[in-house]
Amino acid sequence: MFKINENYQKLPGSYLFSTIAKKVAAFSEANPGKEIIRLGIGDVTQPLAPAIIEAMHKAVEEMGNADTFRGYAPDLGYGFLREAIVEHDYKPRGCNISADEVFVSDGAKSDSANIQEIFSAGNRIAVCDPVYPVYVDSNVMAGRAGVYHGESGTWSNVVYMPCTMENGFVPEFPKEVPDMIYLCLPNNPTGTTITKSQLQEWVDYANRVGAVIIYDGAYEAYISEEDVAHSIYECEGAKECAIELKSYSKNAGFTGVRLGYTIVPKELKCGEVSLNQMWARRHGTKFNGAPYIVQRAGEATYSPEGKAQLEGQVAYYMKNASAIKNGLQSAGYTVFGGVNAPYIWLKTPDNMTSWEFFDFLLERANVVGTPGSGFGPSGEGYFRLTAFGSYENTLTALGRIKGL
Ligand SMILES: *Cc1c(COP(=O)(O)O)cnc(C)c1O
Repeated sequence: MFKINENYQKLPGSYLFSTIAKKVAAFSEANPGKEIIRLGIGDVTQPLAPAIIEAMHKAVEEMGNADTFRGYAPDLGYGFLREAIVEHDYKPRGCNISADEVFVSDGAKSDSANIQEIFSAGNRIAVCDPVYPVYVDSNVMAGRAGVYHGESGTWSNVVYMPCTMENGFVPEFPKEVPDMIYLCLPNNPTGTTITKSQLQEWVDYANRVGAVIIYDGAYEAYISEEDVAHSIYECEGAKECAIELKSYSKNAGFTGVRLGYTIVPKELKCGEVSLNQMWARRHGTKFNGAPYIVQRAGEATYSPEGKAQLEGQVAYYMKNASAIKNGLQSAGYTVFGGVNAPYIWLKTPDNMTSWEFFDFLLERANVVGTPGSGFGPSGEGYFRLTAFGSYENTLTALGRIKGL
């Protein structure tokens, strides 16, 4: 008789967003006249930029013509996109990345979940706490996380690096040496980031202890400060220890279009074994390429018009972010993030738990956010608001919160 992968049974239910949805639905039903503003979910709201739509239309036409029709895309991505990535995302930053180190995919969520499978089941992972849940759950499914302790909300074989007010949201080197380190910078959910020299210390640490860094750069486009690295490969020695994940979801609004890429440098080796070749093999076996139309859309993000339009979109969201940050600060809240990322991470007032503050905000201001404790134990006592709403709704929500 068949058996299932028992590791799936170890996963605790993912109650965060379903609990939020249930609470919001119950509130709406009880208060039909109240207009609720959602600043909870990390999804974009602005439509695709005109340069991208134009490129997609053109690609659609090509697909309808026998001379220009394309079937399966190359497993690892079309040359035009891989070259554009090198030219625009790496060369200007002084990063020596070549096109055969770029692996085009359908997004960073799948890459961040899949990348663990080229590593030993015996490896120990380290994650920031709070954390984007995919890193941990994908390792649970692979049998790498150990046993779940419901009370502490932690896994026995995962090394947690708390990121809190006390350490300025900068992860510290863990006491137990991990094999794989997940870093998401700028960070979801805290909206904070670290300086390039702090990142360099992590690269040096990984090279010293023989760990690999899985670096999620999904929010790179939101960096506004000078001393923050746009790629981990700006750090010396990163090609020997780091894999970088990128996504077009947050910089170009591709959450529904689906496109991302992963960099696996040729210098990254385990003994004589090249991880670049392993990932090429994995990708070639399990992935049949991102759609041609979508890869053309990705290419259009690098055209002069595309770049200008996307800068405008990012600026729009960051205007929301500063409005939230400044507004809450003037109302007496302790607020983090919102400078290099579209997330505001606030300390709940009066020692409320994250969920108490959720209920308070929903009932009194009719505003929905995300309880920090949903991202890990160190998120307790914090709360996330996103800048992805409309400017008008953001201001209305703020006005209500200030009036509490
Ligand atoms: C949104 C997000 C991504 C992007 O995921 P896609 O699958 O590319 O849409 C990756 N990592 C983090 C931390 C995110 O918040």
